[in-house]
Amino acid sequence: MSEYREILKQYFGFDSFRPLQEDIIDSVVKGHDTLGVMPTGGGKSIVFQVAALVRGGVCVVVTPLISLMQDQVRNLHRSGIKAVALVSGMSKHEVHIALDAVEYGDTPFLYLSPERLQSDLVQRRIGRIPINLIVVDEAHCISQWGFDFRPSYRDISTFRDAFPQVPLLALTATATPWVARDIQKELHFSTENIFKKSFVRPNLNYRVRILENKDQYLLNVLKRAKGVGLVYVRTRRKARILSEMLRNQGIGADFYHGGLSAEMRTEKQQAWIDGKTRIIVGTNAFGMGIDKHNVRFVVHYDVPSSMEAYYQEAGRAGRDEMRSVVVLLYSNEDKKSLHNELNSSFPDVDEVRKIYDSLCNRLQVPMNTGEGRSFPIDIFDFSKKFNFSMIHVFHALRLMEKEGYIQYMDEMESVSKVNISIQRDDLYVFQVDNPSYDKFIRVLLRMYEGVFVDYIEIDEQELADVLKWDKEKVEKVLAILDKSGVIRYSAAQKTAYVTILRNRVSMDRFMFNSQKYNERKNFALERMTRMIEYCEVKSICRMVFISNYFGEYDVETCGVCDVCQAEKANQGDGLEARICKALQTPVSLIKLHSLFVEERTFPMVLDKLLQSEVIVYDRNGFLVLNDK
Ligand code: ADP
Ligand code: MG
Repeated sequence: MSEYREILKQYFGFDSFRPLQEDIIDSVVKGHDTLGVMPTGGGKSIVFQVAALVRGGVCVVVTPLISLMQDQVRNLHRSGIKAVALVSGMSKHEVHIALDAVEYGDTPFLYLSPERLQSDLVQRRIGRIPINLIVVDEAHCISQWGFDFRPSYRDISTFRDAFPQVPLLALTATATPWVARDIQKELHFSTENIFKKSFVRPNLNYRVRILENKDQYLLNVLKRAKGVGLVYVRTRRKARILSEMLRNQGIGADFYHGGLSAEMRTEKQQAWIDGKTRIIVGTNAFGMGIDKHNVRFVVHYDVPSSMEAYYQEAGRAGRDEMRSVVVLLYSNEDKKSLHNELNSSFPDVDEVRKIYDSLCNRLQVPMNTGEGRSFPIDIFDFSKKFNFSMIHVFHALRLMEKEGYIQYMDEMESVSKVNISIQRDDLYVFQVDNPSYDKFIRVLLRMYEGVFVDYIEIDEQELADVLKWDKEKVEKVLAILDKSGVIRYSAAQKTAYVTILRNRVSMDRFMFNSQKYNERKNFALERMTRMIEYCEVKSICRMVFISNYFGEYDVETCGVCDVCQAEKANQGDGLEARICKALQTPVSLIKLHSLFVEERTFPMVLDKLLQSEVIVYDRNGFLVLNDK
């Protein structure tokens, strides 16, 4: 075991492991398939990084988000460890170079997305790489019973089967006992083997506020709160609007969501990490894999659709183990919108069939053909033309994806593509007539063979580098050529893609596994019900509720959450309770002190009540119970 500690010290500079890290490492090093369930911030990366370095050879890490990969690669480089990531949008050449580094070089880490596992190039070369450990991060994505199922994760099991002798380490922050079992099954574990860290986070103060005017409350809280924090909302629009509202009130806030360009997202995220932005108002696109320790509060303006999501997002507070507050704002509207959302995420099967058929028509895919072809698609446009609700279309696409008919890539993950839309001779004439574009076209043809035949992935930055232009100029020229009908150019961030995975079938042959579909729906309903229960419960400590949800039962009440506090305030004639009673209406500190002047422990108890925010100062500087 001391070998592990040496590596920890040598590369990462830490003296000791956190609970469970060492046990998981040991299990993997001994060659066992292992599932590690540790809360966000628990230190999962170190676990596989140390295990991989001990085992030697190459560690393949499958992880869903590109930004996560790039972060991790950067961090490893900082520790003097070589690592490469295969992300979409890389040219073939770049992919080869990266794979060379792991095949021939001394690069022990290869990060890739599950989609990349399937690419021909990777398939062809991966067998030659001396793989010694397969890591699946965010492993809950493989379970269709989980809250964040991603069909592409299914491909991992095929990949895994190709290396039966290599141990697999699956890691996740959130798995109910059921999902944990499913993960191990789906990843073909040789035997069940799970290490699970307690879900208790003693430094987090969980609170739920039931209220209709959330804005006013949020403002009050944020004005009072110290340090940096996060506010989670459910829609992109709200993220923007709310952050504007906060800024207008003099609170340093910015917004973040998945619809922003990659550069914007990085910029905003970095400003927050560096402490230049105090508060980010974001959708659930924000936060995964971000490693910021001193987050003092996380407010949920809207209720998430599952406890898993809630626990993960709220868990971004207080990684430094310092006291932090996580508040969830709840109103009747939330309940309604959760129900609506559930219904639209499981659309009527007949409607899905219609959407499937219209989609194939729209993409001009003839019957019994289409497998493997990709098309850019504008959901907004499509929905309007065929008179579907956009939300329904979106969920129908997700459903078709789950059933293996198509793959849908939304804007964020897509890449730029180009296809020459005229004949070679005509292009030549165009080049002669328009000498200013001649160089560009020649470079384009040279770098991306095949643009005459098909849509080819291009990289504007790569083109810019070769041309010695800046990227904006490249984009502009591409747009002009597109407009004049010479090429078809679809720029990365604006386009979503549909890939047909199975030849088109007629509507009546479009099959669903309806039993599975209904089961999935029931699971989602159950998740939602438990989430609402969490919001409405008045008698179970929040920490206990959360732990129970994740299958942990021997947990003591936290004593600080709103439920525990209400309990205390109602109980007996303890000093805490008496102070709270005295503060039913605002009272000045001097007055309060005079009431309890006989009590030796008054200052301590008062401090505790203030720190845990049972009582607060109101706007006039009076002390008051914090129950609104
Ligand atoms: P997770 O993936 O579980 O959410 P990370 O791997 O991002 O968490 O780790 C969170 C933070 O904890 C990182 O900053 C990491 O450097 C730190 N960390 C991990 N293990 C240790 C350790 N043994 N000692 C000190 N810090 C650690
Ligand atoms: Mg992680």
